[in-house]
Amino acid sequence: MKIVDYIHQAKKPLFSFEILPPLKGQSLNELLDGISPLMEFKPPFVDVTYHREEFIYKKHPNGLLEKVSTKKRPGTVGICAAIISRFQVDACPHLLCGGFTKEETENALIDLSFIGVQNVLALRGDAPKSENKFTPEENGHSYTKDLVKQIIGMNHGRYLNEETESGFHTDFCVGVAGYPEKHFEAPSMKFDLKYLKEKIDAGAEYIVTQMFFDNRKFFEFVRKVREMGIEVPIIPGLKPITTLSQITMLPRTFFLDLPDDLMDELEKCKNNADVKAVGIEWAIHQSKELLDNGVPCLHYYTMSKADATYKIAKEIF
Ligand code: FAD
Repeated sequence: MKIVDYIHQAKKPLFSFEILPPLKGQSLNELLDGISPLMEFKPPFVDVTYHREEFIYKKHPNGLLEKVSTKKRPGTVGICAAIISRFQVDACPHLLCGGFTKEETENALIDLSFIGVQNVLALRGDAPKSENKFTPEENGHSYTKDLVKQIIGMNHGRYLNEETESGFHTDFCVGVAGYPEKHFEAPSMKFDLKYLKEKIDAGAEYIVTQMFFDNRKFFEFVRKVREMGIEVPIIPGLKPITTLSQITMLPRTFFLDLPDDLMDELEKCKNNADVKAVGIEWAIHQSKELLDNGVPCLHYYTMSKADATYKIAKEIF
């Protein structure tokens, strides 16, 4: 079923979460066993992130270095199929512009529709770690709005290189990302929201936000989004801080601020166990306040580790 239909039919706010595909060589069953306790809270869908290729340098016996491309977390389509069949919930794969030609995108969407996927989160992706600027593939998409247009085109039976519309229409519900603290490349919040509106106007039906730790930033974002005339559901994305290293890593990686009240508590922590307890408490507090303010769904970034999210969900759902 489509995520927007779950939202519209729900009698109470929904619980959902996101997982990372296992690293190449690691077991999918271990990952699925790990998240199975979260099924107690009846998530209608589980997001599966996508990780584009990275470049590594392989040293040859003659001393020469060869640049090779590698995907550390392959297997999105298989993981979606496994989630659908094992838990009977919908899987929502993340689909990137980066690393894909339009034809590869089309083929990926056909595969996904054949295994019963009805939702995708459309994203641009970032530059590979070895590059400092996002560059689309030749004949790929530069911005998510163009990826959304391609998916919606397929929903109308429009395929690349086909003269006429085809009889088989996909039927994807498309979500897109929103940034309560602005996307790091956007020149200003106003322009970031203008581009967000372009994604909605292209046919996206809901927004999931980047993680944030200060609910006031989310409420302000929602207010501005509504002022732009965007009416689609906005799902807040939440991440419990669980390790000392995340205190510096999260702001650096995701271009967000940690509120002073949270930092005052984290500063007292001596080890990861202390941090995790504070992170869980903070996420519970955030979740309750967001629910009091009428959000349709709470979406948790689990990083494939379910225990912190389980403790939060137990308090909330
Ligand atoms: P876009 O909407 O294309 O925007 C990218 C930038 O371009 C923004 O600064 C925007 O303001 C600007 N822009 C947009 N349109 C225009 C235009 N017409 N002219 C000029 N500027 C424009 N990354 C992954 O690799 N894998 C994942 O699984 C993944 N999951 C994510 C899930 C969520 C909920 C979120 C919030 C992010 C996720 N990301 C993921 C990260 C995401 O790929 C990056 O943040 C990426 O840099 C931007 O993606 P986007 O879809 O928001 O891009």
